Amino acid sequence: MPKPNIGIIGGGIGGVATAVALNQAGINAAVYERAPEIREASAGMMLWPNATRVLRGWGLLDYILERSGSSTHFLVRSSNGAILMNIALGTFDVPAITVRRSDLLGALLFALPPNRIRLGQKLTRLEQSHSKVRISFESE
Ligand SMILES: Cc1cc2nc3c(=O)[nH]c(=O)nc-3n(C[C@H](O)[C@H](O)[C@H](O)COP(=O)(O)OP(=O)(O)OC[C@H]3O[C@@H](n4cnc5c(N)ncnc54)[C@H](O)[C@@H]3O)c2cc1C
Repeated sequence: MPKPNIGIIGGGIGGVATAVALNQAGINAAVYERAPEIREASAGMMLWPNATRVLRGWGLLDYILERSGSSTHFLVRSSNGAILMNIALGTFDVPAITVRRSDLLGALLFALPPNRIRLGQKLTRLEQSHSKVRISFESE
């Protein structure tokens, strides 16, 4: 059976992480992003142990840990600082962390083989038949 050729639409954290997972599983996958560059805000995000465990499996956790802080509790506060919710994260084989989105995306991009990101490709049409999917872009 021929190897599948996977196209992922959207080069956010979700799309790039999916490409890393597929490529690590030996499946060719390329990401098509409409923007001229891949970019994430420098805002922080929290990664719970289910996510850091996946990063460990991909060999990226040490790199991310150097650029993140560990978290023991998940707090939601009101605008005056009062704690509205406080979840203790527990202890697992991998930590819960807070990391900059741009650092996470950078690590994921680093894990991809070259030429797997196609920029300036805005999906405009998707046609699905029994055996294949044809995708068209604004640039075509
Ligand atoms: C305020 C806020 C806080 C959050 N905090 C956390 C957190 O702490 N921890 C956590 O795990 N999650 C958090 N999330 C959720 C997490 O940020 C999202 O689930 C994640 O960023 C989604 O990634 P994505 O790649 O699916 O989508 P996106 O980041 O939206 O990426 C979609 C990409 O697709 C591209 N695109 C769109 N249309 C086309 C097209 N037609 N053709 C080509 N490209 C296209 C866009 O340009 C974009 O680059 C938070 C979300 C929000 C809003």
